[in-house]
Amino acid sequence: MKYCPYRACPHRQRVGAPAEFMDHVSSCSDCKTPLVDSEHEAIEGIAPTSGDPYRGPAERTKAASGRRERPGRKDVAIGAALLLAGLWLTGLVYMVRSSQGTYIVALGLMIYGAIRLLRGLRERGAG
Ligand SMILES: [Zn+2]
Repeated sequence: MKYCPYRACPHRQRVGAPAEFMDHVSSCSDCKTPLVDSEHEAIEGIAPTSGDPYRGPAERTKAASGRRERPGRKDVAIGAALLLAGLWLTGLVYMVRSSQGTYIVALGLMIYGAIRLLRGLRERGAG
């Protein structure tokens, strides 16, 4: 006697036990799965291919690492903000002819912002 090991076999779904076949039969008449010789092996069975347990966790890990923030992202944001603030202050100084001190602060902000922006971009490229 031979048995169909496929767990999702239509016959098994219907009867609740592996389909049984004569010894000269090589594959299940319901699901075309190659038959096995022992009933125990058939009951252990072959899992349906749809829910592959080896692919699931790996895919989840990949998705999780994709969502993780890249290094340097904060630096890029802060650098860009400081550059904009410096440009805005420079424009303000130009418009209201403010003191030299404000101009130096604006220049400092822009330089510091540019450094952080470049550092962040470099870290992004490396990561
Ligand atoms: Zn079958």
